[in-house]
Amino acid sequence: MKKLGLHWQILIGMVLGILFGFFAAEMNWNQFVIDWIKPFGTVFINLLKMIAVPLIIVSLITGIAELKDISKISKMGGKTIGFYLMTTVVAVTIGLTLANIIQPGTFIDEASRDQLMAQYASDAGGKILEAESQKEQGPLQPLVDIVPDNFFKSLTDNGKMLQVIFFTILVGIGLILIPEEKARPVTQFFSGLNEVILKIIDIIMLIAPIGVFALLAAILVEIPSFSVLQALLVYALTVLAGLAVLIFVIYSLMVSLITKHSYFDFLKAIAPAQLVAFSTSSSAATLPVTMERVTEHLGVDEEVASFVLPLGATINMDGTSLYQAVAAIFIAQAFGMQLDLATQIMIVLTATLASIGSAAVPSAGMVMLVIVLGQAGIPEAGLALIFAIDRPLDMCRTVVNVTSDAMVSTLIAKSEGQLLVPDVKEWDDNYPKN
Ligand code: ASP
Repeated sequence: MKKLGLHWQILIGMVLGILFGFFAAEMNWNQFVIDWIKPFGTVFINLLKMIAVPLIIVSLITGIAELKDISKISKMGGKTIGFYLMTTVVAVTIGLTLANIIQPGTFIDEASRDQLMAQYASDAGGKILEAESQKEQGPLQPLVDIVPDNFFKSLTDNGKMLQVIFFTILVGIGLILIPEEKARPVTQFFSGLNEVILKIIDIIMLIAPIGVFALLAAILVEIPSFSVLQALLVYALTVLAGLAVLIFVIYSLMVSLITKHSYFDFLKAIAPAQLVAFSTSSSAATLPVTMERVTEHLGVDEEVASFVLPLGATINMDGTSLYQAVAAIFIAQAFGMQLDLATQIMIVLTATLASIGSAAVPSAGMVMLVIVLGQAGIPEAGLALIFAIDRPLDMCRTVVNVTSDAMVSTLIAKSEGQLLVPDVKEWDDNYPKN
């Protein structure tokens, strides 16, 4: 019998997890699920996070050392950041447009607004405090934050991925600049280590179906009741509509026009990464899977993937920026505020920056939303309104974040002549890179 593809295994794990979660919530087995099922999900996320930082370092060093040319690095770097910025601005604009057309905030009546505000005020307060501490810093702080004063400290801090990338790129550049015979043993070491890490990711993925089962079952028993969520339905649907436009229209056009490959095959190839993103709500935790799918199944050269993807997981969050735009407008509308054009343009700018600044972990987008609200003069306490539905939306926007990273990596690979499937009509599971 043919072995079931990874995406099918994960999908089955997810569906069973959702069904079991529903059933468990009905039967009031919440504590049992949290004590005995959820830990397997946590183990799965931990395994992914455990391998993410070594993966970034080793693959980035190997990738850059293989480029052998500083001008190529800066060219690719410029192109990558340009693409990432462009997709983010498009995403925010779609979010703003939809929120202005659908007007989700006008669908929430005063009673449910006050109920939500009262129920989630303290949770939202915590997030607001978290964001406040970031806001107090000067305008150039993000630049300062990229450069670590202690590399080993950055390694142990999940939010400091950009610092790790910065240091690693410097090591790669150093390797290019020293004499070949000195560099060779170092690059050989890292290239061997790279193989080891990729193998470890294969091993971790063996338990992916169980991991996603546990994660989804736990999310379902912890989610607020449907009656609370009902008031937020139009808002949630607006965000989902925007995310759908990104995935099914914008990315589809970009992939088919630029790479001339079938978008359906692209989606099929990266499906496991999307499913893991959905289950973990973290682009950083998903990075190992994204990397594997993009290099092994889409034919993106490792040189490109190892540069573009870690950067993307950290700074490119189209789904998050779109959600921030919709959420800002929703909260403003719910409080009866009209936002003029200048404020909305301001939202494009702040949501772009806030999404870049969001860490690739669950709920990070909501914390950074406080900054968008503050800039636009929208009451920050409004965060309490959207709190109840944030997790499911986080799962969906993370899928978009990861899809966008994978898409940009294929576009860059194509433009660099490093998409390794020139003669193959389709991307599929049968296309191993080597
Ligand atoms: N969870 C998202 C991610 O990791 C970030 C966010 O929007 O909260 O990509």
